[in-house]
Amino acid sequence: MSTVAREWREIPGRYNLEGTKCENCGSIFFPARDFCPKCRRAGIGKISRYDVCRRGKVFSFSIVHDAPDFNNMLKPYVVAMVQTDDGVMVSAQLVDVDLDKVAIGMPVRAVLRKLSADGASGVIRYGYKFVPDE
Ligand SMILES: [Zn+2]
Repeated sequence: MSTVAREWREIPGRYNLEGTKCENCGSIFFPARDFCPKCRRAGIGKISRYDVCRRGKVFSFSIVHDAPDFNNMLKPYVVAMVQTDDGVMVSAQLVDVDLDKVAIGMPVRAVLRKLSADGASGVIRYGYKFVPDE
């Protein structure tokens, strides 16, 4: 499988904040999984697709100073654990915000942003990040 095809296949989950839901006990999983550890059931009809709410609040965060090379232009940056309005924990970068304004409980929403660009192959990867939700 080519790199492009692999990247393309990864896009829906990242873009839509797509998780899964256990139809038996109502547990929501993100990232998606096809097995429910709570009631130990799996299979068609038991686990269905679930679009995680894009709005939430900062649950915890940390400011990252040591960034990988492809993030050089962005550092330091904030990585936040966001609790969405439907109770799912999502870890993602928090952007378009002053570092000293980030606070626990701050309302945020998910947006689609460029994650990285691979100069050699020309592949640009997209994914969700969070921005302040005024
Ligand atoms: Zn379950």
